[in-house]
Amino acid sequence: MRTRLLLLLLLAVLIPPAMARAAPAVLATIKPVHSLVAGVMEGVGAPELLIGGGLSEHSYALKPSDAAKIARAKVVFWIGPDLETTLSGPLANLAGVAKVVALEDAPGLRRLAARPGGLWEGKPPASGPINPHVWLDPQNAIAMTRAIAVALSAADPAHAVRYAANAKSQIARLRALDDRLARILAPVRTRPFIVFHDAYPYFQSRYGLDAIGAVTVEPDRPVGPRRVEQLRNALKSGKAVCIFREPQFSPALIRALAAGTRARVGVLDPLGADLSPGPDLYPALMERMAGALAHCLTAHGT
Ligand SMILES: [Zn+2]
Repeated sequence: MRTRLLLLLLLAVLIPPAMARAAPAVLATIKPVHSLVAGVMEGVGAPELLIGGGLSEHSYALKPSDAAKIARAKVVFWIGPDLETTLSGPLANLAGVAKVVALEDAPGLRRLAARPGGLWEGKPPASGPINPHVWLDPQNAIAMTRAIAVALSAADPAHAVRYAANAKSQIARLRALDDRLARILAPVRTRPFIVFHDAYPYFQSRYGLDAIGAVTVEPDRPVGPRRVEQLRNALKSGKAVCIFREPQFSPALIRALAAGTRARVGVLDPLGADLSPGPDLYPALMERMAGALAHCLTAHGT
């Protein structure tokens, strides 16, 4: 009896769990997308990350090693042609070979229209291109998580149960995150601020924040002198109490805009440039963003 039990135990150790069929090669473009995909894949495999470090999500230039990553992928998750514009061509070439999922089209995802740079007066246009920074709202991250689980289950039915269970617990974590962020930001809802590039309309509208303008729409293009003057006047007059720079871009312009005014300079990082990739990156990125806003907007006093 005892030897049979031992034998069974030995077999349990030797045979990998669930007869471990390997997960398909999965590629995610930016760190926040990679984080949500990694959470759904936990215990099955890990996605590869395409755009790491401090690179801009808008003007990304493909390296030869990236082309290889794209070529071997069986499932690719990206935001879509409104964000990673330079990937439109390479991903179109994958048609028929890999499943390419644009998360900006996830069912139930809230989309906002793009708006011009400078100070925003009046409502944004109702039509036209969308603002592609859709991940900066936990409710959208929930819609993205559902779409990720559906796509992975279709590509890899052997692990469908696991993907569904992971998605369910990730959605519960995202709901809790949403509540925490609302509590952190409630005290600073009326404090006006200016951002470097218009990456935050989803965050702003989710938590009722008072962002009044952006230095630029396209972070890789120079900013005209008229806009510089307009923004400087807003900071001088106290119409905005904080201006936020981003770690990927030179702080020189932001510092010049704030110089000689009472406005404070803060840092917002919509990509998690220096955070380690993985399931925990997304909540860390969102909490850090909320903390940076609350700190800069509170410390200024009234
Ligand atoms: Zn952006």
